[in-house]
Amino acid sequence: MLLTTGYNFDGYKITSYLNVISAEVVLGTGIFSSLGSQFADLTGTRSGSYERKLESAKENALNELKKQAEFLGGNAIIGIDIDYTTFTSDILGVVANGTAVVIEPEESTVSNEKYIPVLSYNTKLPFNICNVVLRADDIFQNYSAALEIKSYNDAGKIKAIISDIEFKTIFNENINLKEYIFAVNQKYDDLLYSTDFIKVSCDQLRIDLIQKAYVKVKKVIYSGDETIIDMEDTIEQNQISQIPVNQLEALRQNYGRDVMCNTQVTEYSWICYCGMENSRRVIECERCHRKDNSIKKSTSLGDSVLKGNIIDTAISKKTAREIYEYVSSLDMKELEDLEYELKTLVRKESLFEENQKEEAIETIVRML
Ligand SMILES: [Zn+2]
Repeated sequence: MLLTTGYNFDGYKITSYLNVISAEVVLGTGIFSSLGSQFADLTGTRSGSYERKLESAKENALNELKKQAEFLGGNAIIGIDIDYTTFTSDILGVVANGTAVVIEPEESTVSNEKYIPVLSYNTKLPFNICNVVLRADDIFQNYSAALEIKSYNDAGKIKAIISDIEFKTIFNENINLKEYIFAVNQKYDDLLYSTDFIKVSCDQLRIDLIQKAYVKVKKVIYSGDETIIDMEDTIEQNQISQIPVNQLEALRQNYGRDVMCNTQVTEYSWICYCGMENSRRVIECERCHRKDNSIKKSTSLGDSVLKGNIIDTAISKKTAREIYEYVSSLDMKELEDLEYELKTLVRKESLFEENQKEEAIETIVRML
């Protein structure tokens, strides 16, 4: 039971006020005037004995308060006030008052998890590691870490991964974690998921100073497969995003947590947010399936490169339905008639269970 003369406790919040409680303890009779047995105590060791009596009366009064608070379902008393009072001219007593309350430890307003953006990626992998999640396990600066991963297809879902992590502080110092094994235990449907947390053994993990992380994938086991895939030979493919962390965070808010760089268009290729460099002849990123914004924005079919792109992408699809979905996702007014024709083929495809891809491509070539 916590007691205070004040009205709050540091680190706790009061969740309910129960009742004002009060306890009276009679200190003794004849303190002042009588020549009774109490008075005998006052001779010789007068003050000492008197003080002890006062002290024990106060203690009894507080114990009585605690009992009352407990009876009311409280776990603390606030506003404790102790008075000495004479009940008659002869009897001294102690009166203790307070308010019984229920308190709860205050939840820290700061989350105990911190997301450290990962700025390294490897376009040979069917996933990007978006963040290292650092979790404070206690007040003694013990931490656990997990990886937040975005897989680009079901086959890229990870079961376990061995990786090195390099943290960079705002002073550009390195903190290295070597060969950490992260496992994914929970079932997940989403392609964005986190590994389980593992303990971090590192003395000088100044979590508030860490600004970014580079993660080097060394070995990986994909979900639904026991094969251990050694990534050593793709390590030279590791790339590090050069854009400042705050700009990266802004891009991630708009375009997804796996964004590694800004898009760029060159004469023959375009670089996707996921880091992949795609040929200008494909509109959709081969790795993460994002559309090339620069091409999507152009609304004129007069561009022969665009026509070629559309045909090439259509050829890479498996069914008329996929082709139709792709064409309608381009959201171009000039393609509305084509969309209508393709929709007819999609209906035919599902009605007769006959793949209409060839017909769809013929239609596109004819109509563009
Ligand atoms: Zn991409």
